[in-house]
Amino acid sequence: MLTNSNTRILVLDDEPFMLKLLTRMLGNLGYVSVSSCDNGHDALLRVASTQDAPDLILLDINMPQMDGIEFVRHLVEHHFCGSLILISGEDVRILQSVEKLVRAHKITVLGHLSKPVTPERLSTLIELCVPPSQKMIKVAKKVYGQSALAAAIAHGELVNYYQPKVTVATGEVVGLETLVRWQHPQDGLVFPDQFIGLAEQYGLIDDLTRAVLSEALPQARTWQDAGLSLKLAVNLSMDNLVSLSFLDYVVDLTNQVGVPPQQLVLEVTESRLTQDQRVSLEILTRLRLKRFKLSIDDFGTGNSSLAQLRDIPFDELKIDQSFVHGAWDNDTQRAMFDASVGLARQLAMETVAEGVEDRADWNFLRQHDCDIAQGYFIARPMPAQDFPRWMADWEHRREHLM
Ligand code: C2E
Ligand code: CA
Ligand code: CA
Repeated sequence: MLTNSNTRILVLDDEPFMLKLLTRMLGNLGYVSVSSCDNGHDALLRVASTQDAPDLILLDINMPQMDGIEFVRHLVEHHFCGSLILISGEDVRILQSVEKLVRAHKITVLGHLSKPVTPERLSTLIELCVPPSQKMIKVAKKVYGQSALAAAIAHGELVNYYQPKVTVATGEVVGLETLVRWQHPQDGLVFPDQFIGLAEQYGLIDDLTRAVLSEALPQARTWQDAGLSLKLAVNLSMDNLVSLSFLDYVVDLTNQVGVPPQQLVLEVTESRLTQDQRVSLEILTRLRLKRFKLSIDDFGTGNSSLAQLRDIPFDELKIDQSFVHGAWDNDTQRAMFDASVGLARQLAMETVAEGVEDRADWNFLRQHDCDIAQGYFIARPMPAQDFPRWMADWEHRREHLM
């Protein structure tokens, strides 16, 4: 079904044959406001015009004078706020790189079309188009000051959400990851990308992590007492691992609360370069000796490298969501996914796939050798009190997923 037949579409391709073909295809699909250009300069004049500026451009990447990548740079200068569909006969990895580049310029890309173009694929992509006037205007994110964040931690405004992890083989719930949120009295629920980096910068990350742990461990104890055997994961910042007092804190707290160290998973990434790797290495190794579980988070991204895997005795490897979601449809991602799993196997580590967003991702995991899955498809992060209801629901759902 046509979402909006009046969507203004501009086709930009240097080959007259392609222009004709695409224009005809669009006409057949019911689009009535279609125009075409065979070079970037003319197309930019259209973009600059106030009357018939396009909502959507079908852009050929390979053009003799101004190529598609250069054209995109000019679109940015023109503050183009419509959408793009990329077209090329090039190999799909080049198309994907260009797509990334365009997104980095904050221009909406609906996807790419490899030649030969089919009407089905074309219409699927155009359906995704939202006219610029209906796009949500993004509000700049607020930057919180040091004293505000310090006060929030001190006044208990941080709350833990928990996201379940299940085994791929049976769907059994084996653990949860703690994800902190800030229940801000005016701004509502604030997500960690808005305050974790600041906490590190302001020297508040130790207080923050202690607040998270001091809520998470009693919660783990409550689940343990209810007869649930669940591992609870908590995210650490590398900055937590610069002083030995952190180690004592974790050990003392788990003892006090009565949670065995094997039940606590510490997820680590290297978001910032640490000054002294010897201290972090010592703390992690001693935590491991004391039977806490160590997990390397975001594996495969710049923050989690082979060098860390070589140096630190991790128990678990979390494959970053950028290699998981959509891997079923992307050869490059799949190669990296398989390589990560292979590496983990050789090092006798468990594997967790993050970012399992839909049924296709889940099916992909079922056909690949990965132990544990986590993602929106299974559950979104939730407050602890919602967990029993989700668990009952999941017991029904999981039967249909095996
Ligand atoms: P992370 O450790 O990689 O956590 C996974 C993030 O992906 C979470 O975002 C989670 O809500 C989100 N996620 C889960 N499933 C899916 C999915 O299927 N698709 C997509 N697109 N996303 C999914 P969140 O909660 O916003 O946390 C962001 C990051 O903040 C975390 O990334 C972690 O690095 C950091 N963080 C969260 N809590 C803490 C904490 O207590 N301490 C520290 N140091 N960092 C934390
Ligand atoms: Ca994590
Ligand atoms: Ca991650």
